[in-house]
Amino acid sequence: MKAAVFQEANKPLTIEDVEVRDPVPGEVMVRTVCSGVCHSDLHFVDGSWALPMAAVLGHEAAGVVERVGDGVTYVEAGDHVIMSFKPFCGGCYYCLRGTPQLCSDQSLNLSMVSRLKWKGNPVLQFANVGSFSEFMVTTESGVVKIPKEMPMAEAALIGCGVMTGVGAALYTAQVPGGSIVAVVGCGGIGLNVIQGCEIAGASQIIAVDVVPEKLDMATRFGATHTINAKETNPVEAVLELTGGQGTEYAFEAIGNVDAARQVFDMVRPGGTAVIVGMMPMGSEISVPGPAFLQEKKMIGCMYGSARFREHMPKLVDMFLQGRLNLSSLVSERMPLADVNNAFELMKTGKVARSVLEISSV
Ligand SMILES: [Zn+2]
Ligand SMILES: [Zn+2]
Repeated sequence: MKAAVFQEANKPLTIEDVEVRDPVPGEVMVRTVCSGVCHSDLHFVDGSWALPMAAVLGHEAAGVVERVGDGVTYVEAGDHVIMSFKPFCGGCYYCLRGTPQLCSDQSLNLSMVSRLKWKGNPVLQFANVGSFSEFMVTTESGVVKIPKEMPMAEAALIGCGVMTGVGAALYTAQVPGGSIVAVVGCGGIGLNVIQGCEIAGASQIIAVDVVPEKLDMATRFGATHTINAKETNPVEAVLELTGGQGTEYAFEAIGNVDAARQVFDMVRPGGTAVIVGMMPMGSEISVPGPAFLQEKKMIGCMYGSARFREHMPKLVDMFLQGRLNLSSLVSERMPLADVNNAFELMKTGKVARSVLEISSV
């Protein structure tokens, strides 16, 4: 099969013939239809996070089940699925307490290196997905079944950015109706945090970014106010917009330690700063200690705290009812061979998401 292979940071991916092995018992093979190109993929391509190489990147995808291994009961050939980049075991401490996004089963991580081969050598299948390729093999818990009327590009985006962003508002922070919130960073994740807060019924949604086009998009996704952090100090501007009090919730959706400090400073006493962005390896976040006497909270977020088989179909339903905006997140559509262009476009900051159309339904 064709796959885009990542061999070295800051070098273009190359399209190669990669071998994928058949699904073993408990596994599923999926033909990739659409794959989003996410900022987390770029973090590896630009070297800010490291991976064993070579690797097939791509972790935000939807496709059609091609065939299943023995013992698989949840899906069958022909089913449409969203890929989950966090397969779960269902039996560990984290799964049993209802947090499969934190599953600790290491075998589900290790399996990433066993399924792909290029020039006779094993290739890492990033996050058990590796969707910059024509086929993906994952464990049964790495797919979520969706109805056939769900369009594939929009479905793919639920696999990472939408689930993470909307989930950060609905399931991680559990934003109550009427809340006053700020979102720092209005890329693929931040726009979804914004629409998650809108779905939750937030009364004031303040969007912060440095790119005017992104602030325009933020308004279309539900932001009630925008702040260009290039023109003004965003913390002071948020305080001003909230009568000097700060917000009840603030979300960091970039993966930048300075922005993390800003969201902490934006929340009022008792408020919650939610770190959604993927912080650089080795980074540390510094906040003023006395603020904890004001019961300020800073919490993390993994995959929007999603319970995959419950929450992803709910997002599909909301889209099909016209209550979740996915289509305007799809800024560009292109073939797999153009994956490097997708990264270039992302660096301009002017697109919400580029979607690779790898096969048709
Ligand atoms: Zn992602
Ligand atoms: Zn588990």
